[in-house]
Amino acid sequence: MTDSSVNWTLQTRAVALGRPEGPGAPLNQPPVLASTFREGGTDYARFGTGSHHAFEVAIGALEGGAALSFASGMAAAAAIVETVPLGGTVLTADNLYHGVRSLLGDLQQAGRLRDVRVDALDPAAVEAALPGADLLWIETPSNPLIQVLDVEELGRLAQRHGVPMVVDSTFATPLRLRPLELGATYVVHSATKYIGGHSDLLMGVVVGRDEAALAPVARRRQLHGAVPGALESFLALRGLRTLAVRLDRAEASAGVLAERLAQHPAVTRVCYPGLPDDPGHDLATRQMSGYGAMLSFCVASEDAADRVLAGTRLVVMATSLGGVETTAERRNRWNEGTLTGLIRVSVGIEDVEDIWADLRTALDALDD
Ligand SMILES: *Cc1c(COP(=O)(O)O)cnc(C)c1O
Repeated sequence: MTDSSVNWTLQTRAVALGRPEGPGAPLNQPPVLASTFREGGTDYARFGTGSHHAFEVAIGALEGGAALSFASGMAAAAAIVETVPLGGTVLTADNLYHGVRSLLGDLQQAGRLRDVRVDALDPAAVEAALPGADLLWIETPSNPLIQVLDVEELGRLAQRHGVPMVVDSTFATPLRLRPLELGATYVVHSATKYIGGHSDLLMGVVVGRDEAALAPVARRRQLHGAVPGALESFLALRGLRTLAVRLDRAEASAGVLAERLAQHPAVTRVCYPGLPDDPGHDLATRQMSGYGAMLSFCVASEDAADRVLAGTRLVVMATSLGGVETTAERRNRWNEGTLTGLIRVSVGIEDVEDIWADLRTALDALDD
């Protein structure tokens, strides 16, 4: 960052950083559509190009570290998992993105590593499991229960036992949680979600304290070829420019919807840390600078959940999250054994009254 930019707020950094500088420079980093380069600079696109670099500069400045972009969130996660030694142990929060869970499960089955689950809401349980572990992997707020984990406390414990800690911060975005300041070794984002923000690309990012900390994953990216495309990098950076305004609006609407859902007779439970009686509320208030725009709610049965989702028109039944459009899905499709009748909602930026009217109509129809 240049001198004055260290004083800029995160909102300003998201808009201003990662742009070409100097007289006559374009305001936006153009997509670099080249696989190879003349001798003397970047050699080959798999080692990283200007398209990747501009995005990485902006994300690094938001997280307070150095960033490395990947072809998807899973490619980013897999690069970190690859740094675990053969036969090593990955300690995982039991509420985790299903793709990461499946990856670790496959690797465990192949004898590559051990996936040991722990109740990460209970720091004493994590501390008891840390000795001998090679990596601690947590996600907050978590998927799909929107649980909030104490990153600072878990980071302190991990450091005490010399275990690197990964925080999947996809739901929080770089604007609501700063895991590196709280003790994370690596921060992971699926940039497919809020950072891209328009459901039109796949990308991931890993952030570490500095380039040296990133070196092992940079090596993995280079050799696995998990680099993002130039157009994806361009679009993800363009998405990042509006992250602050998109998130402010979606989050304000999520707060309104969570309160109204909690009052609806067909809703048995709402998971949203912005609600004062949510178990994660106090921690989220201390640890985050907002509660995010992801919420889950339960209706009486899986069948009722399917009927609600079939009854909405504006709210699109679709997986994934973090786009400008409100999407929802019955999460037991993926996370087997999660709460019965749980519907996860990614609140978008439409008018909140239209989103509520759509959900309420579908919920009211359960009575018929
Ligand atoms: C989507 C997601 C991922 C995986 O990212 P992709 O870009 O789909 O590969 C990882 N973690 C979380 C929390 C996610 O929501």
